[in-house]
Amino acid sequence: MRITVLGSGTSHGIPVVGCGCAVCRSEDPRDKRYRASVFIEGAAGENILIDTGPEFRLQAVRARICRLDALFYTHAHADHLHGLDDVRPLTQDGPLPVYGNPATIEDIRERFRYIFEETQPGGGKPKIAPSVVYGPVVVGGLTVTPVPAQHGTLDIYGWKMAESGAVFVYVTDASFIPDASFDLMRGADCLLLGALRARPHSTHFSFDQAIEAVKKAAVKEAYLTHLCHEHSHEEIAAYCGRTGLQVLPAFDGMRIGIPASTHSFFENAQSGERRCSVRRE
Ligand SMILES: [Zn+2]
Ligand SMILES: [Zn+2]
Ligand SMILES: [Zn+2]
Repeated sequence: MRITVLGSGTSHGIPVVGCGCAVCRSEDPRDKRYRASVFIEGAAGENILIDTGPEFRLQAVRARICRLDALFYTHAHADHLHGLDDVRPLTQDGPLPVYGNPATIEDIRERFRYIFEETQPGGGKPKIAPSVVYGPVVVGGLTVTPVPAQHGTLDIYGWKMAESGAVFVYVTDASFIPDASFDLMRGADCLLLGALRARPHSTHFSFDQAIEAVKKAAVKEAYLTHLCHEHSHEEIAAYCGRTGLQVLPAFDGMRIGIPASTHSFFENAQSGERRCSVRRE
């Protein structure tokens, strides 16, 4: 399994519009963060996307995503959903299965109402088939299981991806994870976990709360994502180093292989080996 971090920023992204702080002005490419999203490739070539933030088009071009087999949503906040229309070129061959919890699927139907209405022929719309799920979904050789969590008072899903010999868990925007979900996460090869900043926040884990969750889940390694502009990548890496755990800040374009021997942290997305076949119009 290979994971590509498409975006590692909080809802504003970094740089924040109109902000002149040191992190927003940083020259370090790891301090440029699109809105949070992740792309997973299974061992048999399955292509899975979690969330479509406002930069989805830019992220998909950069990561050379040519095909999608399934799209999973954590929740329907704008920073996780509003790039949905841009999956259009990847849905020409038939409807893309889309999965989420009841509130998320209801919000998608409401906010993207035009997708589900009959409109004049020729008007381009993404073809998607949304479903509410409460349990595992099979995508090729991967079993994808919802990991329920709380984002303030909002019910959200994390997602656990398992194939033979590899387990990856993505949980972002959580401020509380129930014990039953920790049972699903326990011992995973890799956890990508949302952590906003050092200071507490009412609807997101702080760094310290995220580290407590990493310990409780007893995962082999973890990465922090959904990061805000209060800390540079270097500062978050230094904080992670002091925990004594196998945990690092994520950054846009980061590729994580499971097993870990296939990591390629600093791969330039522009030099990826992926080739897209020519698509008929
Ligand atoms: Zn968010
Ligand atoms: Zn800033
Ligand atoms: Zn959110």
